[in-house]
Amino acid sequence: MLRIALPNKGRLADEIRGLLDDAGLGVQSRGERALTASLGGEFEALFVRAQDIPEFVADGAADAGVTGWDLVCESERALTTLLDLEFGRCRLVVAAHEDSPVRTFADLEAATTPFRVATVFPRLTQRYFARAGCPAIVVPVSGAAEVAPHLGIADIVVDLTSTGSTLKVNGLHEIATVMESSARLIVAESRAGEPALDDLVAALASVLRARGRRYLMANVPRVALDRVTAVLPGLNGPTVIDILNGGTMVAVHAVVPAATIYRTIAALKTLGAEGILVTRIERLLP
Ligand code: AMP
Repeated sequence: MLRIALPNKGRLADEIRGLLDDAGLGVQSRGERALTASLGGEFEALFVRAQDIPEFVADGAADAGVTGWDLVCESERALTTLLDLEFGRCRLVVAAHEDSPVRTFADLEAATTPFRVATVFPRLTQRYFARAGCPAIVVPVSGAAEVAPHLGIADIVVDLTSTGSTLKVNGLHEIATVMESSARLIVAESRAGEPALDDLVAALASVLRARGRRYLMANVPRVALDRVTAVLPGLNGPTVIDILNGGTMVAVHAVVPAATIYRTIAALKTLGAEGILVTRIERLLP
């Protein structure tokens, strides 16, 4: 049975469990603290720290893993992404304190004396400033890098942010983006292309594809079908169905983007649509 390393806690843990549930591969746990569990009877989950997952997968202790792309890059191990899971979106950024003379990235490029950078990502940080030709001294910390400027142990930080609120609370402002990240399903580079995980990738991808879409049904005047089709492109154009005793109306069904559903409904109403029904889609396979 293939073994998948998953974060045991932290911000990615709940999201991955939700995704596995939706894919019919829910965690069948033997207890809150279990180290392993069955995933729908198809795979074995191994629960470890998000930071350790790149090492576990690269060393073959797990056949695949789910963790943040930032952690994969920081590990510098030979790993490859099978699927971008789209949650856990964040950016690794360079940030300086409000009181710091450093206002922009140009200030760092112009620095003649080395500046100190606190970070949980020492390798990515070192590489980033070396490439930019900046004289950085990396100060590795194991967490809470954002407090380093307050403690006087660093001039700036390189830290993860999603909403920016933690940076703001700590009086920091962003001056550059080092990289963008999200949760990924990863395997060792040497095992990329093996078909063993194809079914898992297909199951997760079908759920992710479905999440951003809705299934819409409506009755519309047959004479308005051309204009309705323009509003409802669907996967291959809407399905048009006759209604028994429907008179001048026909039913249309289409898969539509969830993000713009209000606009779609409003447009259909102006075309005379009635009985509009919108449902969630569990899975979508192209
Ligand atoms: P954990 O430390 O276990 O909560 O997991 C941290 C991982 O969650 C990071 O390595 C990122 O991949 C991801 N993440 C998403 N948003 C953020 C954020 N705002 N701050 C830190 N990590 C984030």
